[in-house]
Amino acid sequence: MQLIAEGVTQLAGFGVAAISAVREDGKMEVMAVAGSDAAREQLQGRRTPVDRLSRELEKADDWGLLRFVPHERLDESAGQDWGWVPDIEPIDGAEDAWHPLDLLVAPLYDDDGDLRGSLAIDLPVDGRRPGQAQRTVLNQYAEQARRAVLVALERERLAERVRMADAARRIVRTATAQLSLDRIVADSREALVEGFRAAGMWLQTFDRDGHGSARGEIYSSDGSHIHLTPELITIAEVSARAAWERQQATVVSPHREFGPAITAEQGELVLAYLNEIGVESLLFTPLGAGPEVLGNLVLTRAAGAPEWTEAEAATALDIGHDLGRAILNARIFEREHELVEELQELDAYKGQLIATVAHELKNPLTSVMGHLEMLESSPDFTGHARSSLQAMDRGARRMVRVIDDLLLLSKVADPDESIISAPVDLRRVVDDVVDLTLVAAEQKKLDVVVDLPGEPVFALGDHDEIDRVAANLVSNAVKYTPASGAVRIGVERVGNDVLLSVADEGIGISSDDLLQLGTEFFRSSNPEAVAQPGTGLGLAIVRRIVDRHGGQLEIESELGSGSTFRVWLPAAEPES
Ligand code: ADP
Repeated sequence: MQLIAEGVTQLAGFGVAAISAVREDGKMEVMAVAGSDAAREQLQGRRTPVDRLSRELEKADDWGLLRFVPHERLDESAGQDWGWVPDIEPIDGAEDAWHPLDLLVAPLYDDDGDLRGSLAIDLPVDGRRPGQAQRTVLNQYAEQARRAVLVALERERLAERVRMADAARRIVRTATAQLSLDRIVADSREALVEGFRAAGMWLQTFDRDGHGSARGEIYSSDGSHIHLTPELITIAEVSARAAWERQQATVVSPHREFGPAITAEQGELVLAYLNEIGVESLLFTPLGAGPEVLGNLVLTRAAGAPEWTEAEAATALDIGHDLGRAILNARIFEREHELVEELQELDAYKGQLIATVAHELKNPLTSVMGHLEMLESSPDFTGHARSSLQAMDRGARRMVRVIDDLLLLSKVADPDESIISAPVDLRRVVDDVVDLTLVAAEQKKLDVVVDLPGEPVFALGDHDEIDRVAANLVSNAVKYTPASGAVRIGVERVGNDVLLSVADEGIGISSDDLLQLGTEFFRSSNPEAVAQPGTGLGLAIVRRIVDRHGGQLEIESELGSGSTFRVWLPAAEPES
């Protein structure tokens, strides 16, 4: 534009030329000025209402593209409005003398006849109104200026659309941090519709087998249901695949050929559908991640809206990548969720099975034990027979322990089995537990150090369950500590929690075994550990109880040096 304006001043013999463009607010803004510094300073960027110019043009002489309004026909205020009046005197007596208030301007129209800009010319070097030859040259410049203004405006318009589409992309990007597709669509549809100046949008996801079948979800911009025929769904699916392979978003519009991702026949069907729902064209974007095609995004425009641009298609494809990744994440999340549910169901089933089996075993076993007791008290059995009875009794007692542990485990693992919480004084719990293990500890000459505070330390939970936690940990410490070792038991309040710690100088646990500790029936591979009687259920029970109390279990151990078990439980204030 600047070059054209300068051409007018340097080659067509004028002192000043200014090219303006019509802005959205209805003002004409001066975009390029050539001529004196004073004129440039005054005019550059100046904005005048368009209708002000239109009014003057009504009085103008028609010089082809140029319009000439002699000063005597101009409005009084014209000088101020046009911004700059050259400080010259008209040539004396000459009929064609140029007057400082003469207006020579070429209104620049687009192909639809809308006024888009102007080329204003002033200050002829020879001081005269232009003659025929000069007008011809000026008309040529006016045509050039017209094209330049149209191109500049179009470029600006496109740049604006790219900016808006980019803004939409940024919003979609932040929305994709969520794991539910519903939320992602809800949070980004407004930005998509506005950013792309679309009439509406919908998004279709393919099911896990990759088909846009009826199972695929369709989310429309206004939440309404978009009904696509099976035929359209198939077209969308095939086109999404082709478009993703080419990494291209595709436009379906009556004004242009269909893109390579869609055949003419398919395109016509789509257009007919668009017609039915009252829109004219669409931008079809495949959604995918890596080689996987996961759905498509459709943005629509009504008749009269601008055509889809390359830049918009490119941004839409970027969005297709963002949404593709989001769909994949949402799907993985959903799958994990399902898996967790399946596992939970399986776990519940396992729990029920264990409970049932344990119950079924317990009754006959109780009867077996009763009879054993009777036989043992009978004087008829002596020698081998008596030792056999004693062995049977030990075996039966062991079975009772396993069954009791199983029953307890299935109870504490059952999420429907709630805990009745009350303040439990850990000092008393530890005292009781230590009393019970004292005999075993003394037999092994263990040094049992109990470190209890002077005040009660209350945990919030079920007394029997917390007692069981302490009992299992202390009995393990005693069991897995060789003769003359030490076992330390401590209780303290730490902030909102209480801490029960049981440390020993026992055989320790290898780091591999540590990972599996707390799994039902897990017993260490360490022969020293296996030598001790046990079921592998004690720590599983501890872990479940601690979990359901909202507490935490920490285990530190080194093979050969000892182990420390720490249980954190929520503290309770004593009942007043
Ligand atoms: P068990 O009835 O076998 O003692 P637990 O569930 O209580 O079952 O413990 C599981 C395994 O963890 C034990 O077999 C043992 O190998 C290991 N373990 C538990 N406590 C200790 C400890 N204090 N020191 C060393 N190993 C331990």
